This record gives sequence, structure tokens and C-alpha cells, in this order.
Amino acid sequence: KKVADRYLKREILGEGTYGVVYKAIDTKTGHTVAIKKIRLGRQKEGVNFTALREIKLLKELKDPNIIELIHAFPHKGNLHLVFEFMETDLEAVIRDPNIFLSPGDIKSYFQMTLKGLAVCHNKWVLHRDMKPNNLLIGSNGQLKLADFGLARIFGSPGRKFTHQVFARWYRAPELLFGAKQYGASVDVWAAGCIFAELLNRRPFLQGDSDIDQLGKIFQKLGTPTPLLWHDLEWLPDFVEYSSQTTQPWRKLCPTASDDALDLLSKMFTYDPRTRISVQQALEHRYFTSIPLPTDPAKLPRPA
Ligand code: ADP
Repeated sequence: KKVADRYLKREILGEGTYGVVYKAIDTKTGHTVAIKKIRLGRQKEGVNFTALREIKLLKELKDPNIIELIHAFPHKGNLHLVFEFMETDLEAVIRDPNIFLSPGDIKSYFQMTLKGLAVCHNKWVLHRDMKPNNLLIGSNGQLKLADFGLARIFGSPGRKFTHQVFARWYRAPELLFGAKQYGASVDVWAAGCIFAELLNRRPFLQGDSDIDQLGKIFQKLGTPTPLLWHDLEWLPDFVEYSSQTTQPWRKLCPTASDDALDLLSKMFTYDPRTRISVQQALEHRYFTSIPLPTDPAKLPRPA
């Protein structure tokens, strides 16, 4: 069955935050695509209008490290977003016990992550939902950010979506404390979590509730003090946590190089205003010191 006279639907790839994702053939180009069907049912017309305007912005974000939004159209009360099809994602790479990631491989995957993020931050678009399964990997080894800006367009995924619990592990402390105003630094924190996960091959901060998530953060990185983070006590959901000391980075990520640990510690700065930016992270000596990032075409991927 054809959609919009152009796409031949194949199997369901999965159920995402906003709806079902299908594999399809674009009969216009012969390429395989992924179509994300987003239910617009209960939203008001005004919301749809905003959404469509924002989607137009996303379509203009073209970069090797951002998944291309090929086409967006409404069909039978659903919004269809057509993306280039991607073979796998970073979560599958990290979880695959048959894959060995060398320091150069980790550097390459992480550099592509930051490059994609930098493009979006330069256009004042936040991701807000960075996690390894949103980092898709193409057949040529290129890593591309997916789901950019969708959180802002369709609202932050609520707790009713059980598979969303994982996103908590990547959430910056200012969000966990209920900050209403936040910026690009929330994506930097999440990227830091992904970096640590690439190095350790397991999620870095695995909380099982928002309160527990903060507990897990403080257990590893120490409880922040107003001296370190000025606005801390004024955040809406601020509660005092018992004071814990910072653990040495060498102990938290035993296999990482000194350069990697220095970059990591800067991404996990508590005060969002002094946290390193994505651009600064990309300019960190970690990326120019040996080993150099592996050529994407030579990166290990699941069989
Ligand atoms: P979530 O909202 O949980 O991040 P998504 O809506 O992004 O999930 O995706 C749901 C499923 O569809 C996942 O299994 C994902 O791997 C797959 N998928 C999403 N986008 C693509 C794509 N561009 N190419 C191939 N598979 C995709």
C-alpha cells in the first residue's frame, strides 16, 4: 500500500516515543527510508501549525552528522516524517559483546556525536533527548543524530511512555531539579553520559526515579554546593541531599586516557553556566592527541 503516492510501506521497525516507525521504499528514489508516524489526534490546530513550522526548520538542518528529514506530510490525521534509513544505532554497538571498541573508535563515535550536536546548537536548536539509541549509524559508519527538536515540537515525552525511563539516565541535574529555563548545556551533560557509556560499556548513571537519579549523580560526582553552583537552591524542585564527596575520575572510568577524563570532567560541571560548550568540547586536546579518531568506514558495527 502506498502512502502519499510515493512510499511503499514495509515492516514496522519499532514503536517510538511519538508513534510507530515503518520501513518503506521511496518509489521516487528507490531508497529505503524510515517513516515516523506521529499521532496528532488530540492536539489543537494551533499546535499543529507550530509543529509544521518547526519541522520546516528541521528540514533545513542538513549535515553529515544529522539524520536527514526527507519529507514531512499529514496523512489521515497523522503526521508522517520520512527519514533516511539507518542500519543500526550506538546503543546496539555499545551492548554488542562481540564488538571491541578501541580508544580511536570511541573517539570517532563521540566526535561525530558532538559534531552533529554543534550544528544544531549553532542554529539554536536543542535536542533534549540525547541517548545512545537516538544516535543512528549508517552503512558507511557515519553516526547521525536523530529526533532533533522533536521534544520541543511535540512536548517532552511524558512518564506514561515506559520506554522513556532510559532517557532519565542522560538528564542534566538542572532538569532533574525542575529548571524551567535551560539551554544547550543539557545536551552537553547527556553527551557526557554517552561518552562515559562508550568508555565503560555500560550506562554511567542509572537512576530508577528522578530522585534516585540525582542520588546516583551525587554518589559519583559529589553533592554540589552553592559555591560550585550558584543558582542551585533556587531551582523549583530543589531538595537538600546528604553531602557526598567526589570520586576520582580515574576510578569512575578506569580505561580512559587522561585527556578523555579531563574532557569528561568538564562536561559534568554542575553549574550549567560554566559547563563546557559543545564547540569547546570539540576543540579539546582529546580529539587531536593520539590515537586519532578512527575513519568512520572502519568502525566496528553489529554483524
Ligand atoms: P524512541 O522514540 O524510543 O527513540 P524512535 O521513534 O526513534 O524511538 O524509533 C523507534 C524504532 O524505529 C527504533 O527501534 C529505531 O531503531 C527505529 N528507527 C527510528 N528511526 C530510524 C531510521 N531513520 N532508520 C532505521 N530505523 C529507525
